[in-house]
Amino acid sequence: MKSSIQVPMSSPDLTDADRQEVMNVLNTPILSMGHYVQDFERAFCEYTGAKHAIAVNSGTAGLHLCVRAAGLAPGDLVITTPFSFVASTNALLFENVVPVFVDVDPKSGNIDPLQVAEAAKDISRFLPRRAPSDLKHARLKAILPVDVFGQPAEMENLRQIADTYGLKFIEDSCEALGAAYKGRLAGTFGDYGVFAFYPNKQMTTGEGGLIVTDDDDAAGLMRALRNQGRAPGDTWLQHTYLGYNYRLDEMSAALGLAQMRRLEELLTKREQVAAWYANRLAEIPGVEIPYVAPTTTRMSWFVYVVRLDAKINRSQVAKRLEQRGIPVRPYFLPIHLQPYMVERFGWQEGDFPVTEDLGRRGLALPFSGVMTEEQVEIVCQNLRQTLTEVA
Ligand SMILES: *Cc1c(COP(=O)(O)O)cnc(C)c1O
Repeated sequence: MKSSIQVPMSSPDLTDADRQEVMNVLNTPILSMGHYVQDFERAFCEYTGAKHAIAVNSGTAGLHLCVRAAGLAPGDLVITTPFSFVASTNALLFENVVPVFVDVDPKSGNIDPLQVAEAAKDISRFLPRRAPSDLKHARLKAILPVDVFGQPAEMENLRQIADTYGLKFIEDSCEALGAAYKGRLAGTFGDYGVFAFYPNKQMTTGEGGLIVTDDDDAAGLMRALRNQGRAPGDTWLQHTYLGYNYRLDEMSAALGLAQMRRLEELLTKREQVAAWYANRLAEIPGVEIPYVAPTTTRMSWFVYVVRLDAKINRSQVAKRLEQRGIPVRPYFLPIHLQPYMVERFGWQEGDFPVTEDLGRRGLALPFSGVMTEEQVEIVCQNLRQTLTEVA
């Protein structure tokens, strides 16, 4: 039975005011490097309290600029998580920096601070199976935790480890705009915090990302690097650094500015949808709803990922839900088991058992701030029905 109401996997939450702001740009000749990017950045400084905000054209670009600003060089080691979207690891690989994975907490899915501490103390036990030959002399330089699914990682412990061992701290908050750890906003714990604005994120610019930092030198370097390596004082054809075109355009920045004005509304609507889900799913056997840690004083709902009981055949459930018109996704497939990672570092199944277990059981349900209670009801009814069929 296909349901009559279509439920998309995700949807941006856009108003006429948002669309009008983009049109305002199109009524001027300035489509790049104008005041909208600056206004968007200022809105982020005000919201996060950060000294600098640097808008870029994707979250991945933002992470890459942090890797450059942190001074990471080929062969340097960075502790990070295999339970994430691949961009957090790829940003390291772009500079031939070596990701050193540690496993995650089984409840939150965030990097396990105890294992981070162990790795910081003695990195040799955590190196990839097939390490590049010159790794013996490699130095641990940074940590790169991810605020998975909109929940801040264990910031207090992680900050302490970074301080103890003199490590740079890159916070991937691309899934956690608006989340709070003990009352403080995600993205403000690291030396640099990165947000992302792809259309399925809490707010969108189409494509886009942004870095916040209090570090004046890093901010200056990142501004130059996003603009083809032009330092202050360089002319259009002078390039002090090897840079990139990571600029955010004005249409995207205008949409971002309009969305920032509505951020509280966007977050609240997603909280409501998550609450509708939690209510209904609590009664379905074999389905575990997302865990919210006591230190998470605000969850910022990015995706809604439930965990199926290990006995349940997830791919059968997913297939049957798709047939009923309910899109779902396994979430995440572990990074260390992606083909290019296996080839490069020799990781194997069993290397990060918690990540792999979560990866096998996690199922993202349709989720957005514009979902209605009726749509949530339909998803839950279909899930309940499918589970009885597959059991
Ligand atoms: C979305 C996301 C990013 C950035 O993605 P872009 O598509 O490049 O904007 C980075 N890290 C994580 C964990 C993400 O979820």
